[in-house]
Amino acid sequence: TIGTIFDLTVKKYPNKEALYDVRRNVRYTYKEWDEQVNRLANALQKEGVHKGDRVSTFMFNTEELGTAFFACAKMGAVFNPINFRLTSEEVAFILSDAAPKVVIFEKALEPVISAIASRFKHCSFWFIDTETPAYAASYKEKVAAASTEEIQIDVHENDLYAFIYTSGTTGRPKGVMHSHRNMVDQSVLCIASQKLEKEDVGLVTAPMFHCAELHCAFLPRINAGAKNVILHQFNPKAILSLIEKEKITKFFAAPTMWNMLLQEDLSGYDLSSLKLGLYGAAPMAPSLVNALHDRLGISLVQAYGMTEMGPAITFLSEGDQLRKAGSAGQAAINHDIRVVRTRDDGPSNPDDVVPAGETGEIIVKGPCMMLGYYNREEATENAMYKGWYHSGDIGYLDDEGYLYVNDRVDDMIISGGENIYPREVEDLLHSHPGVLDVAIVGQPDDRWGETVTAFVVKKDLNMTEQELDAFCKNSASLANYKRPRKYIFCDALPRNASGKIQKFVLRKQLEELFTKES
Ligand code: AMP
Ligand code: MG
Repeated sequence: TIGTIFDLTVKKYPNKEALYDVRRNVRYTYKEWDEQVNRLANALQKEGVHKGDRVSTFMFNTEELGTAFFACAKMGAVFNPINFRLTSEEVAFILSDAAPKVVIFEKALEPVISAIASRFKHCSFWFIDTETPAYAASYKEKVAAASTEEIQIDVHENDLYAFIYTSGTTGRPKGVMHSHRNMVDQSVLCIASQKLEKEDVGLVTAPMFHCAELHCAFLPRINAGAKNVILHQFNPKAILSLIEKEKITKFFAAPTMWNMLLQEDLSGYDLSSLKLGLYGAAPMAPSLVNALHDRLGISLVQAYGMTEMGPAITFLSEGDQLRKAGSAGQAAINHDIRVVRTRDDGPSNPDDVVPAGETGEIIVKGPCMMLGYYNREEATENAMYKGWYHSGDIGYLDDEGYLYVNDRVDDMIISGGENIYPREVEDLLHSHPGVLDVAIVGQPDDRWGETVTAFVVKKDLNMTEQELDAFCKNSASLANYKRPRKYIFCDALPRNASGKIQKFVLRKQLEELFTKES
């Protein structure tokens, strides 16, 4: 179980530094952290939290989120980390769906909770900062008053460990149910792919509520006896000085974060401790991979996956970064990946495999597959049809078994009957020196069905639409029908907390622009 992973590390390295929370300037050895975890577990038990009950967190990156993660694991409570970007109503939806007994939250997010707390009479709200609001209890006081004794509850590897609500670009979020066993298996995969060792120092800067950080970076580091430095919120300058001061060796960041790091002047920092960067959760343009190699001189590993699978299902190793540029890598250990023909009238058939090089839906089987979506039987059946997780991603396998992820089924553009994968056009435009960020969406068109539209954030403010159009026309790799017919320049692209572009927001913007024009 996740509790066992933690206890084994505590036993092995009691006096090794486990964690540094930058916001609070708190450092714990594994033994000190274990005491803190036990205190919280005992405090939650005193509050009436039993095995199977849910405990939610609503925080940026904090020691308390990590402590709650292990406290829940040890007592068999179901951990439910909520996305800190959500609005009051979105949080209210999750609280009514998951029905937690306790919600632990922090000051910066207090207004979101105060708007809805009165609706959840059977739930206690615990506040981790000082000056606790009237409707909440003080986390600090509860924990300080509790015992450091190990909690005595039997937790089985197949018991529920968490409900993690998916970012879901449209529709209601779904609670992905994972078992302890799933996460132990995921952790071992991630240790292997990043070659994690007890000497490693990891930086937590991507959101901890999201499984990419929590399961692929934070947890495996603890499993390996390494140290976690927890940064409250993403901040490029803080990251660079922490790499120097704490001698960070490895960390995960979404492509957009890596891109922002490279916009900084790196020359003033000693970044020599840094060995490896993990990226994923969204596509990264090959031009950015090259820039990271050139400017940071570190090894890179890509992970591709989804909350439902734990998340990682493929890895692209350092040795393959250039040779297999644009690929998401090979199936993770013990994972089976197929690309199958899509169907309009239901989930694709797992046996309808397409030949290498042909695109279709990516489906996968592996030891970390979710148990299902909480309270969503039909969605679960469709997603796990015939024992394969149906990703809703379109891609292909090459003849060496490397996976290429093109796009979400829903983001594909069909123009004049031809399929266009936005990612291909995005990758090309990313390689233009004047482009900082780009997203491609389809615009409804009477004649063609859809036409290609580019939203571009400029790096070079003097760059024009004509210049970009000429660049696409001159590119041997882009067929004419894929060329953007319209450019919209903007200050930033809408992204969710895990770094994915919210294309539905852009499509809505286009629709509004279009109705204004006509
Ligand atoms: P989530 O459930 O929030 O983890 O989102 C999963 C989705 O993120 C996948 O289905 C992909 O569409 C996308 N994704 C994750 N990792 C990658 C990657 N390395 N390259 C491209 N897309 C990715
Ligand atoms: Mg499993």
